This record gives sequence, C-alpha cells and structure tokens, in this order.
Amino acid sequence: MAHALGALASVSPSVAADASLRKTGFKINNNLSYNNKLWIPLSPVNLKSRFSSTKYRCKVVSMSVQQTVRSKIPVQPLELENAKEPPLNLYKPKEPYTATIVSVERLVGPNAPGETCHIVIDHGSNVPYWEGQSYGVIPPGENPKKPGSPQNVRLYSIASTRYGDSFDGKTTSLCVRRAVYYDAETGKEDPSKNGVCSNFLCDSKPGDKILLTGPSGKIMLLPEEDPNATHIMIATGTGVAPFRGYLRRMFMEAVPTYKFGGLAWLFLGVANSDSLLYDDEFTGYLKDYPDNFRYDKALSREQKNKSGGKMYVQDKIEEYSDEIFKLLDGGAHIYFCGLKGMMPGIQETLKRVAEERGESWDTKLSQLKKNKQWHVEVY
Ligand code: FAD
Repeated sequence: MAHALGALASVSPSVAADASLRKTGFKINNNLSYNNKLWIPLSPVNLKSRFSSTKYRCKVVSMSVQQTVRSKIPVQPLELENAKEPPLNLYKPKEPYTATIVSVERLVGPNAPGETCHIVIDHGSNVPYWEGQSYGVIPPGENPKKPGSPQNVRLYSIASTRYGDSFDGKTTSLCVRRAVYYDAETGKEDPSKNGVCSNFLCDSKPGDKILLTGPSGKIMLLPEEDPNATHIMIATGTGVAPFRGYLRRMFMEAVPTYKFGGLAWLFLGVANSDSLLYDDEFTGYLKDYPDNFRYDKALSREQKNKSGGKMYVQDKIEEYSDEIFKLLDGGAHIYFCGLKGMMPGIQETLKRVAEERGESWDTKLSQLKKNKQWHVEVY
C-alpha cells in the first residue's frame, strides 16, 4: 500500500490555512503537493460541521482523484512504547492534575437525540496513558452528599491514542454525552437534575482548567503482542471512545513499533445517522484498508431488524454470527463498551446463536474469558 511513512503530510492551501489545524500543534509543511493526503479528522475542531461544508466536499473531490490511500501521520515514538505496563493512577483524587481544555466540539448532527461532544485536553505530557484506558474528571463544586468535600470523580474512556489528536503525546480526547434529566411526568427537562460532570465538560471553553485523575483501567487495553490479531469491537454511543483510539493507532498513525496487519471490525450502535460518532474517520479507514477494517452500523431509529423491530447492535451481531463465532474460535478479541443496558441483549443473542450451533455459551464464554479474549467496559 502506498503509505508515505516517514514523510510529513502535505496539505492543500485552504486546509493549511485553517487555524484549527495549527491549534492542534500538528506539524504541516509548506509543500502544496497533493500526493500525501491529509487526514482531515485530526483536527478536533468542527468535527461534524466541517465535513458537511461545501468547501470541504470540494476539497475531498479534488484530492481523492489524485490518490486513493491516505498517508499515515508519522509520530515521534514516546517512551510509553517501551514500557511493559501501562501507566496507572499517576494522579489520585486528593492530588489531581490540573489540565487545560483545548477544544470542545459537538460531534452529532441536528437530528441526534441528545448531545455528544469531543473534548481535547492538554495535559502537557504529564498524564500519559495507553489506548483503552480512562481518565477521571473531578467537576468543580462541592459534593452534595459530603458538604465541604470536592465532587466525586467521574470516569471517561479515552478516545485518542497515546499521541493524542495533536500527535505529540501532549493531549487526550474524551467523547462525552451530556447527561440531561427529563421529568417523567411532564416530559420537560429539569436542569437542576442534569448530570454535573458531563455538562461541565460539554460547556467548558478553550483555556478552562480541569482536574484529572488516572489514567486507570487495564481491561480495555489493546493487546499488541500479535499485530495480525482480529479485534471485534462492539460499541453503543460514547462506548466508541476506546475504539477510536485503537483505530487511530492501527490506521492513522505511523508508529514504528506497531504495524497492524490484522482485522479490526467495529459494530457501532446509535439512534440515527445524525448520532454517528467519528463516522468520517471510520469511513476513511474502510476505503483505505478494506482488507483490515470492517464497519457495521446499527441505527435503532432508522433501520429495522429482520423481525421488523428496531435495529440494535445485537441484531448486527446476529447477522454476522457465523463469521464472529469462527473468528472467536480462531482467537479473536471481542470488546464491548457503552451503556450497561447493551449487555443483556447481546448476551442473549450470543447464547441463542451458540445454542443454534450446538455449542454451550457458558462454556464458550468461560473459555473466552480464560484466554483473555473477552473485554467488557460498560457504565
Ligand atoms: P451525575 O451528576 O453523576 O448524575 C448521574 C445521572 O443522574 C444523570 O443522568 C443525571 O441527569 C441524573 N440525576 C441527577 N440528579 C438527579 C435526581 N435528583 N433524580 C434523578 N436523577 C438525577 N460517559 C461518557 O459520556 N463518555 C465516556 O466515554 C464514558 N466513559 C466511562 C467509562 C467508565 C469506566 C465509566 C465507569 C463511566 C464512563 N462514563 C462515560 C460515564 C461517566 O463517568 C458519568 O457517569 C456520566 O458522564 C454522568 O456523569 P454526570 O456527572 O454528568 O452525572
């Protein structure tokens, strides 16, 4: 494949002129060649609106006729690449790290129910992490249950690679859904009961300070011993966060010590097409790495399953169950991330499929767990 490894990505004049790109700290050269196509989604700014603008659409057309495979972004390997274990709990609730918000952008379109934001945080290389870990955030204010004490820590899955969206190891990105409370009787929003931390994050502005703990978590780390392994990722909503990190590591960054040659298969469940998260990045991988990436979406309010009901991720899993079971038998890793409520339906589907195949799901599940193929992080 035509990856221009080791070369700085060249950008078109209008993209280079985009202040948001410079804001990320991403290095650009002044060569206006179109040979190395820039990964536009690296900018944390205007992730959704940028792709729908006429200007952007024109740009894609003019560049894609020149080259079909985008260059990977070269990164200067961090020391983290040589570590045997991930960093863990470098900052604790009593002594959190004070980081700075770089940008907050709405990720979803106007017809999405609710709001999800992409938040880039500058930690100045002081809170390093591996893909699949989480940060803790301590929102400002007093803990209502313990007057005089700070708010409790809320965890957020990290949505970037260890290099961050700035590709220099100094930033972290989070994918946060604003928790809004609707009164069950009136159906009206009650702002006094809205989620504290998610609203603080989605309302924050560049330059605001934010208290971080962590990083934490080992269950969702991306196993890298075998660069040709299969990774089946099942996400609902913001559960896509760790998978965005995995996929950028696999397909966007040129990391000298990690060259992915396996299969990554993402199942993403959201309400409708306006609710899709990072769809442009994923669609880009699909075009450039068709042998290494698969991407299936379940849009519950737009698509119907085979029984005429709403299309959920478990319906997509069922559709591809033969392949999924074969891949698991061959040692594939399977990951689940998102709301807790996703798991019962998925487990039922997997159990039913196993039984139809004459297998015991309980035995299979304990085998998958024993082999460290089964990774679940739901909240
Ligand atoms: P809180 O203030 O903690 O409130 C919680 C809920 O209670 C809200 O829905 C709120 O509206 C409701 N509520 C408040 N007051 C009342 C009341 N009086 N009566 C009834 N209901 C009330 N979230 C993400 O968006 N993205 C992620 O990537 C992510 N990753 C996570 C990873 C892990 C490992 C875990 C454990 C959780 C993760 N979460 C993630 C969830 C996140 O930690 C928070 O739980 C979430 O953002 C809500 O926190 P909050 O402070 O906004 O809401």
